[in-house]
Amino acid sequence: MLIAGNWKMNGLASSLAEVKALRQSLEATPAACDVLICPPTTLISRLAPETGPKIAVGAQDCAPKSSGAFTGDIAAEMLADAGASWVIVGHSERRQYHGETDSLIAEKTKAGWRAGLKVIVCVGELEAERVSGKAEDVVGKQLSFLADGATAANMVIAYEPVWAIGTGRIPTMEDIAAMHGFIRKTLAAKFPGEGDNMLIQYGGSVKPDNAAEIFKVKDVGGALVGGASLKAKDFLAIIRAV
Ligand code: PEP
Repeated sequence: MLIAGNWKMNGLASSLAEVKALRQSLEATPAACDVLICPPTTLISRLAPETGPKIAVGAQDCAPKSSGAFTGDIAAEMLADAGASWVIVGHSERRQYHGETDSLIAEKTKAGWRAGLKVIVCVGELEAERVSGKAEDVVGKQLSFLADGATAANMVIAYEPVWAIGTGRIPTMEDIAAMHGFIRKTLAAKFPGEGDNMLIQYGGSVKPDNAAEIFKVKDVGGALVGGASLKAKDFLAIIRAV
């Protein structure tokens, strides 16, 4: 399993104390899963030396190009240079607030691989899409754009129902199982020999008190955690729930 923290646009130098606390605990009692923190870009190079071998560092987005006249953008190569080994692409907040399309997300995925990063690709439906019974169609379409060349070693899917992100609401365990089963079937067909082993994280209001139940669901390969990853105590409780 992979438990990843997405700090979003949160975190200053003072937040490094949370990482130190996390590291101390994981060095004393190792995690039963892989652990990743994706801070804002400004903190990657400061956080990377603090994490030690037990915690990987990732970015929350990357540009498709490797360099050039793209003011404000950050290339995957720059993220790797700063100490990242992972990048998240296609988060619903990027899709919603920055108009990111499935084809752009595929370009960003390839950019991550080009720079040697492992990539978490986020997919998930809006509430209206779930209510109208279209959740699998929406996620299936997003998955159909996944870049060629994906392997169980270079890509993780995060299933994040958009209506569950930051709301405190989560799907039923049956709905999580059904969607993860659908994603597994789709990955196995699209990436023969690899799709059966790709991790499929669940994301959306994962907290210390619901993590253990979610991790028992078939095909759940960990979690992408937003709000509850900001404090070492909460993030650790989720890691320990594995
Ligand atoms: C996220 O940002 O990917 C997320 C799942 O957020 P939260 O855990 O706060 O719902």
